Amino acid sequence: MAGVRLEGVSKVFGNTTAVARTDLEIKDGEFLVLVGPSGCGKSTTLRMIAGLETPTEGDIYIGERKVTHLEPKDRDIAMVFQNYALYPHMKVFDNMAFGLRLRKLPKKEIEARVKEAAEILGIAHLLDRYPKQLSGGQRQRVALGRAIVRHPQVFLMDEPLSNLDAKLRVQTRAELIKLHQRLETTVIYVTHDQTEAMTMGTRIVVMKDGVVQQVGTPREIYNNP
Ligand code: ADP
Ligand code: ADP
Repeated sequence: MAGVRLEGVSKVFGNTTAVARTDLEIKDGEFLVLVGPSGCGKSTTLRMIAGLETPTEGDIYIGERKVTHLEPKDRDIAMVFQNYALYPHMKVFDNMAFGLRLRKLPKKEIEARVKEAAEILGIAHLLDRYPKQLSGGQRQRVALGRAIVRHPQVFLMDEPLSNLDAKLRVQTRAELIKLHQRLETTVIYVTHDQTEAMTMGTRIVVMKDGVVQQVGTPREIYNNP
């Protein structure tokens, strides 16, 4: 596991400043929630940490390593999106194994990691199914599983629960919190849902118009809305 640091990071698209001169330190092992209204720059911030966007200025560090210009695959991160984007023609096992095969891990190691992640997520009995044979909640677990098998230093999650119905969303929140405790990893979690932020984050960053407005524990944010 590793912390993440943003130093004076901005992202400008044409004449839109999506993120403005942001400094942020995410500690080793914390569950940091980035919250704020649509368009405030949450996804762009996450995408820069992931390496899917390059900052217009500033630098990003993962652990002690400057990653500002590294490819996503060289950053030791795994990302979970709201759209699970599972490969429809591949069974659950192969969906979860895909990234490890790309990285040419030994077959035995791949099997062990997929089975371990499937046990943790309670989907061990679904490994032979195709995505279309799964419920929305099960698919979302597979998407998480695909990230977990990588054993990343940092998990990046962009509204991972927003496609689930309300009941399943609440249940999955609790499971993600447990998962974070069990894996002892660093999580950066983007949501526009304040309840989600308050219940899940060990620390919360409130963004507005590309600027960090507030940083604190849920209690601190609650006491100073
Ligand atoms: P959020 O995740 O908080 O909804 P985003 O980071 O997606 O916000 O977007 C921040 C701002 O940057 C918005 O005004 C959005 O329209 C703009 N933006 C994001 N990505 C792009 C892009 N690829 N090209 C142009 N504008 C973008
Ligand atoms: P989110 O729900 O994460 O805010 P959006 O629907 O805003 O996602 O954006 C989805 C994708 O479109 C992202 O890759 C983002 O960078 C891109 N995007 C967002 N706003 C714009 C824009 N104004 N012009 C071009 N691309 C954009």
